Amino acid sequence: MPILWLDEVDPAEFNNKRVLLRVDFNVPMDDAHNILDAERIVLTLPTIRRLLRAKAKVVILSHLGRPKGKPKPSLSLEPVASYLRDLLDQEVVFVHDCIGDGVTRIVNNAEPSSVIFLENVRFHGGEEKNDPVFAKLLARNMDYYVDDAFGAIHRAHASVDGVTKFFVKPLGGLLLKRELDVFVRVLNQPERPLVALIGGAKVSSKIGVLLHLLKKVDALLIGGAMAYTFLRAQGEAVGESLMEEDKLSKALGLLRKARELSVKIYLPKDHVVTKDIPTKKDVRIIRSNEFAPDDIGVDIGPMTVEEYAHVIKSAKTIFWNGPMGMYEREEFAKGTDGLIDAVAHAQGFSIVGGGDSIAALNKSGHSKDVDFVSTGGGAGLELLEGKKLPGLMALGYYDS
Ligand code: ADP
Ligand code: MG
Repeated sequence: MPILWLDEVDPAEFNNKRVLLRVDFNVPMDDAHNILDAERIVLTLPTIRRLLRAKAKVVILSHLGRPKGKPKPSLSLEPVASYLRDLLDQEVVFVHDCIGDGVTRIVNNAEPSSVIFLENVRFHGGEEKNDPVFAKLLARNMDYYVDDAFGAIHRAHASVDGVTKFFVKPLGGLLLKRELDVFVRVLNQPERPLVALIGGAKVSSKIGVLLHLLKKVDALLIGGAMAYTFLRAQGEAVGESLMEEDKLSKALGLLRKARELSVKIYLPKDHVVTKDIPTKKDVRIIRSNEFAPDDIGVDIGPMTVEEYAHVIKSAKTIFWNGPMGMYEREEFAKGTDGLIDAVAHAQGFSIVGGGDSIAALNKSGHSKDVDFVSTGGGAGLELLEGKKLPGLMALGYYDS
């Protein structure tokens, strides 16, 4: 593949050079700005350490959440910078913007092997607009660009796409390389049966991908809130469960397409429901056809766990993205935990991707038992889908 990888470049080239390193440190945080799961940071350490050993000035750039183009203190990356400081056990200089003279001055005055951490790139509207003027400002005074942000590789944003135009040869980082190796292997020659387990909150963010996934997988197991849109599309009552009315016809289309392709789609047969999420009022287990008008589905039930676990057991390749329920609350985490257990014990090659999925996996203590933990949720799904991703295009991946 025509990406020039970081480990293919002579380390001596980076000596005292300014390296703009795009990472995906979009980590889950609680209201007190504690990092709930640091997997994405930890998995980027090999790239950072390699650059530090090569005596580069490492300038870290990331996004966090959706500040919509304006500075938002609650989405500052400063807590992430301190976390990185502890991990690396060395000074990390945090800069309160990602462009401008302040950045230039600090970077130019920095010593070799130092780390400079820039503020959330999405504090500028130009980022998501892929504005070339903003991209140029990001690239200003940098000698190299390394993209290690696998989780953002499907975004045509300035720090992923536009910025690369200002470098003779933008580089791919070590995490990106590892991720791509696995996805390309799974994509091109998966061991079958290939089973995808997809959950999470929204159908709308994943339905396009699901449609394409149908062409790759042998079976699709659906859980989480998105199951309710599918059940509703089939005419079932789902009470007050999270459901997307405007995606019902798309959901039906997907079920039809699956039949055409002889892909087996599994929907939950039973559910954990409550009348009120915060107070956990009246938590019960019901069958799919037993929803009362005020029942809210918050997890898959034990029968469903058993059925899905059985399918996972016979799979040769397993791809999991999206929790099966509101796993953040212990009472509603049994479905997700049950299937994590199944994935962890499965014989097949298992890949887990997605911020919340990884958080659930780490919480369960099973992260060592899956074969590959991917830092990209949407990115991984779009890769599996076979789409050409803007970030990879910018690195020359599709050039022949
Ligand atoms: P990932 O980050 O792994 O890609 P998503 O972001 O798509 O996963 O989905 C995770 C979110 O889905 C969690 O916040 C979880 O609470 C929510 N969720 C799962 N099941 C339900 C449900 N039945 N009702 C409401 N939210 C749900
Ligand atoms: Mg998520």
